[in-house]
Amino acid sequence: MEQARLRVAHRKTQQFTRIQISKLPRLMEMMYRPSEIAEEIGVTAETVTRNYLPNGCPFERDKNGNIWIHGLSFAAWVRSVQAQRKQGRLEDGQAWCLRCEKAVPLDKPKLRFKGRYVVIFQGKCDACGSKINRAYAASEVKND
Ligand SMILES: [Zn+2]
Repeated sequence: MEQARLRVAHRKTQQFTRIQISKLPRLMEMMYRPSEIAEEIGVTAETVTRNYLPNGCPFERDKNGNIWIHGLSFAAWVRSVQAQRKQGRLEDGQAWCLRCEKAVPLDKPKLRFKGRYVVIFQGKCDACGSKINRAYAASEVKND
């Protein structure tokens, strides 16, 4: 896969409503499709794929290219975005490590997927070696 260098436009910090936050405890220790997460917290599936993912929401992709979101990791990410922007928000060049449960550097990212709305890069966590994924809005990413 092609090596990509990222240039990403500035974006606003993700905001969540109090109603969405209040629904987080219903998320469980399981993998959800973006549409299922959306239903649980009362947003559209489009909000998840076009807004949350490019804002650093943790996720995994299976062999068929489907996106899966771990319920508890999603809840942790939302809370960290809300509570402490510095820690929870992913900077450009970072990805969320599901094992370390924190933002880690995404070094030498490889382009794994390019869709209409979302571009996905994958790398390896320096600390634990897990695969880490980072999505950006397709409109924001330019490959050199
Ligand atoms: Zn890690």
